[in-house]
Amino acid sequence: MIPPIKISLAKFFLLLLTSSLWSCRLHTGGEAKVTSPAIDATSTALAPVSEKALRMSYIGNMGVLFESDTSTLLIDGLHEFYRPTYAFPDPATVAQLIEGNYLGFSSLEAVLFTHPHRDHFSATYSRDFLQQNPSGMLLGPPQVVEEVKAATAEELGVGLQAVGYDGGVAHFLQAQISIKGVRCEHVNPNRHSAIQNIAYLIDLAGHSILHIGDTNWEQVSPAFEALGLPEKKVDVAVLPYWMLLSDDSAQLIKQWIAPRQLVATHLPPDYRVADQEALRKRFPGVVPLVEIGERFDYHGQ
Ligand SMILES: [Zn+2]
Repeated sequence: MIPPIKISLAKFFLLLLTSSLWSCRLHTGGEAKVTSPAIDATSTALAPVSEKALRMSYIGNMGVLFESDTSTLLIDGLHEFYRPTYAFPDPATVAQLIEGNYLGFSSLEAVLFTHPHRDHFSATYSRDFLQQNPSGMLLGPPQVVEEVKAATAEELGVGLQAVGYDGGVAHFLQAQISIKGVRCEHVNPNRHSAIQNIAYLIDLAGHSILHIGDTNWEQVSPAFEALGLPEKKVDVAVLPYWMLLSDDSAQLIKQWIAPRQLVATHLPPDYRVADQEALRKRFPGVVPLVEIGERFDYHGQ
C-alpha cells in the first residue's frame, strides 16, 4: 500500500517555495529524454549533450546509471526479477551495461550496491561484470562481497572491494570517480536489522551524487553526519520514494541534503500517475523514475 500524502495547505506553499530551487536545474523532455528501452539501438538518436553534463538513465527499482566526461557509474542496477512490485532490467539491458554498449553511455568504471536484497543486487551479474571488466570496480557492504565471491570459484581480482560496516567512512578512487560509503541502517530494522545497507556520496567529474539505498529518516543521521551532510553540496539525491511521503519530509530533505536535483526511486511499476503528480506537486522538479530506460541530464551550475 502506498501511504497517503498528508500535508497542510500552509506547508504545501512552504514546500513550493523551498523546493523551487530544484525545479529549474533539470533538463528532461525534448530530445534528451528517451523513453524507449535501451535495447533498441537503431531507433533512437540521442541529442548531443555537453561532456560536462551529468547524464542519467533509469535501470530499475533504485538502479541509476550516471556518466559525465566518460566516467560511468552504476548504482543498484544489476538485478533480476524478484517480485512484481520491483522493476528490474531485462537481460539484454544487463548485457549492454556489462559489455559497455548501453546506448549513449561508455563502459562502466564502477558498479556499486547499497545492500544485498534481490531488488537491488545480483551476485551472478556482479560476477559477470568483474569477469568481463578486469579493471572495473565493484563495491558493496561485506554481505554483497561475500555473495559475489560465493558465485564463482574463480579469482575476481582487486576490483571487488567491501565498504566497511563499522560506521567509519570508506573512500575509494576510480577513474575520475571519488566514492565515499558508510553504514546506513536499512529501513524497518525490526525486520531487516541483519541487512547491511550503505549510503554513498560520490563525486563524478565534479558532480556530487547521494544514493542511500533502502533506508528512512529514523536511520540516516549517523550516516549523513559521517558523510559531512548537510555542509557538503549535493547535486543529485537519489532517495527511496517513501522518504518523500511523510509530513516532514520536505523539511528533512532541505535540512539534511538540499539537493539541486531530487530523484525518487523504488517506485512500484504500477505507481499511479496521480501519485506521481502528487509527488511533483510537493517537490517541483522532482524526477520520479518509473519507465526503465528513461534518460535525463543534469547540467548543474
Ligand atoms: Zn532492501
